[in-house]
Amino acid sequence: MYDLIILGTGPAGLSAAVYAARYKMNFLVIGAVSGGTVTQAHQIENYPGIEGVTGIELGSKIEKHAKKLGAEITVDNIKKIEKKDGHFILHGNKKYEAKRILLTIGAERAKLKIKGEEEFLGKGVSYCATCDGPFFKDKVVCVVGGGNAAVTSALYMAELSKKVYLIYRGEELKAEPAWIEQLKSQKNAEIIYNANVTEIQGDKKVEKVLLDTGKTVELDGIFIEIGSTPNRALVSGLSLETDKLGYITVDAEMKTAEKGVWAAGDIAHNGFKLRQAITAAAEGAIAVYSIYLDTKK
Ligand SMILES: Cc1cc2nc3c(=O)[nH]c(=O)nc-3n(C[C@H](O)[C@H](O)[C@H](O)COP(=O)(O)OP(=O)(O)OC[C@H]3O[C@@H](n4cnc5c(N)ncnc54)[C@H](O)[C@@H]3O)c2cc1C
Repeated sequence: MYDLIILGTGPAGLSAAVYAARYKMNFLVIGAVSGGTVTQAHQIENYPGIEGVTGIELGSKIEKHAKKLGAEITVDNIKKIEKKDGHFILHGNKKYEAKRILLTIGAERAKLKIKGEEEFLGKGVSYCATCDGPFFKDKVVCVVGGGNAAVTSALYMAELSKKVYLIYRGEELKAEPAWIEQLKSQKNAEIIYNANVTEIQGDKKVEKVLLDTGKTVELDGIFIEIGSTPNRALVSGLSLETDKLGYITVDAEMKTAEKGVWAAGDIAHNGFKLRQAITAAAEGAIAVYSIYLDTKK
């Protein structure tokens, strides 16, 4: 039985592995996708010290680092986690047992599920303006959504791009009024209400989007900011607390409400959140420090 199983091989899980290896802990890392969600980013420009890498390169660099320090990393897709006699059993292709678990299972960006969305991912379709915005300097883009993430992304893009459309399916934006006011005062921003994007079209990259109002918008990029979905099903057997969107609530040490379970990275929530590789990595390190101290009790 392991002292710790780290579930997830994204920036949070792999950075946690670096720290666990340095603490000489008895641990295993399990993940379905090596490198995690960050591998979907075609270019990372905001990870300090590592300039201009693809997401795949960043993920594999962190993995290589963890392995070099002695981390054991297994590829498996865990279907169920159960708590039995005070320890945890993880069911995948194999069965794994640990006294403690660190959940770094990330969250999936919500999709529009429309034609062209998958085909043009990284070729004009993005789920992260903070990450990919600079690639659209002086271009025409749209942001889809009506909450804080969408409106602040549109504001950010208004600073960078020639023109930004905010396309929202409802009549009234749901973001904080101050953000909305700020966006409305931008000369190069236009809000399109009561419209759904039904298709993304282009040749080698995005060229236009079609709306269900019959309108076509010619542009270079589309940012889909309609939220993300944490993996609730996997952790349903544990007594975790979540926020209203399903993200796992953690304290300053990244401890969850269930004894023996920590969470870090995109899946975790502790009030104020920036879902990025750098913060995920930092939370992984904090969690392992807390877990290490727990093994000494
Ligand atoms: C398109 C895109 C571009 C981005 N660009 C940037 C950027 O430029 N800069 C930046 O800092 N951030 C960027 N991000 C955000 C960044 O990718 C995330 O914040 C970061 O990856 C979160 O790390 P994490 O370790 O918490 O989760 P993730 O990276 O999502 O990793 C989750 C891990 O858990 C594993 N997992 C989940 N469920 C299971 C299971 N049941 N069994 C086994 N394993 C499982 C997955 O396989 C994966 O390894 C971008 C995100 C996207 C989608």
